[in-house]
Amino acid sequence: MSHHEVIANAVENVGFRLAEKCGGTVFPIELLPYLPVSLGIITDVLNDAAAESEAITPETIDGLRRYVFAPAFAAVEPSTVMTTAQCVVCDKDIHARSTELLCDECSDDLKTALLTDA
Ligand SMILES: [Zn+2]
Repeated sequence: MSHHEVIANAVENVGFRLAEKCGGTVFPIELLPYLPVSLGIITDVLNDAAAESEAITPETIDGLRRYVFAPAFAAVEPSTVMTTAQCVVCDKDIHARSTELLCDECSDDLKTALLTDA
């Protein structure tokens, strides 16, 4: 994967995971605590993803942009949402605090991609 793909993949996966938890809709700022990237990068990735995929629909409410991740729930039983400790990128089991969604390897890959792109 290119560095851009590594970053986009991580942002989209975190978005989907959070959408499962938050009723299908996420604001870009909600992804910030989980990713070592800027709000600008998150917004760029989500806009690109929304343009390419019908799974993600942007909405603007009171001047705030948010994103609806439609199919994230159709496929997910409510009881399984956010109960697993698996990396959102590679599905590896992680023994993580609940604030972590990426395993160490994927987190390192993402940081490397960011540094190289900068
Ligand atoms: Zn991983």
